[in-house]
Amino acid sequence: MKIIVCVKQVPDTNEVKIDPVKGTLIREGVPSILNPDDANALEAALELKDRDQTVNVAVITMGPPQASYMLRECLAMGADEAYLLSDRAFGGADTCATSTTLAAGIRKVGNVDIIFAGRQAIDGDTAQVGPQVAQRLGVPVVTYVQDIRIGDGKVTVQRQMEDGYEVLEASAPCVLTCVKELNEPRYMSVGSIVDAYKKEITVWGHKDVDLDPSDCGLNASPTQVFRSFTPPQKGKGEMLSGTIQEMAAALTGKLAEKHLI
Ligand SMILES: Cc1cc2nc3c(=O)[nH]c(=O)nc-3n(C[C@H](O)[C@H](O)[C@H](O)COP(=O)(O)OP(=O)(O)OC[C@H]3O[C@@H](n4cnc5c(N)ncnc54)[C@H](O)[C@@H]3O)c2cc1C
Repeated sequence: MKIIVCVKQVPDTNEVKIDPVKGTLIREGVPSILNPDDANALEAALELKDRDQTVNVAVITMGPPQASYMLRECLAMGADEAYLLSDRAFGGADTCATSTTLAAGIRKVGNVDIIFAGRQAIDGDTAQVGPQVAQRLGVPVVTYVQDIRIGDGKVTVQRQMEDGYEVLEASAPCVLTCVKELNEPRYMSVGSIVDAYKKEITVWGHKDVDLDPSDCGLNASPTQVFRSFTPPQKGKGEMLSGTIQEMAAALTGKLAEKHLI
C-alpha cells in the first residue's frame, strides 16, 4: 500500500504578528514548524506502516526550497520518500492553485492508495486544500478524521462532529483530513535524524508535474486577499455573583442601561 501525506511548513503562529500599516503577516525571524495537524496525519500513516511493513509512506509539500528542512523532519519521523514542489511559477498560489499543484504532484508519484492531509493549516486556516485535492484527483474525501481502520479493501473512519462522531466507509484511493485527536505524533530519534540526511528529497517544478505556468501560482488564483488585520481586543468580562434571581436582575439592569433591551 502506498500512502502520501500532504505536509505544509507554517510559521509558528505564536510568534506571528501583523504589520499594522501594510496589513501583511510579519514572517521575518519567525521560526517555521511542521503544521500540527499534518504531524497527526503523518503519524497515522506511520502507524499503518508499523503494522504492515509493506506500506510505503511518502510526504509531499508545495513551498520554497527551505521547506526541505521540514521534509527532513518527516523523513526522520519515519517517512520513506519526500517530494518538494518548488518553482517560481507556483508562487502567489491561493488554495485553488495550491491544490491543483499538489494533485499534479500526487498524480506524478502515482499508484497512491490513501492521501492524508491535516484538517487545516494554522496560518491559512481555510481547511480547503484537502477536499480540493480530492476534487482535482476525482477521489472521495472524508474530513475531520479522528480514527482509521483499514481492511478488506475498505477504509473505515470516524468523522469528528461537535457532539459525537459518524462512522464512514470509503474505497481507496481517497483523501482523509486528520484532526489532532487522531493520535500523538512520535518524536524523532537521534539515529533517525542521521538516517534522514541519507535519504533523497525529490524536487519538481511545473514541467515535471505537467503543469503550464498559466495553471498554477498567482496566474491560477481567483482569490485575492483584501486586507489582514488583528481584531480589536474585547473588553474584560464581568462576573456576576449572588442568587440566580439577583444575577438575572443585575444582568437585565445592565442590558437596559445600554438600551439593548
Ligand atoms: C491570493 C493569494 C495569494 C497567496 N500567495 C501566497 C504566497 O505567495 N506564498 C504563500 O506561502 N502563501 C500564499 N497564499 C496562501 C496560500 O494560498 C495558502 O497558504 C495555501 O493555499 C494553503 O491554504 P491554507 O493555509 O488555508 O491550508 P488548509 O486548506 O487549511 O490546509 C489543509 C491541509 O492541506 C495541506 N496543505 C495546505 N497547503 C499545503 C502545501 N503548500 N503543501 C502541502 N500540503 C498543504 C496540509 O495537509 C494542510 O493541513 C496566498 C493566498 C491567496 C489567497
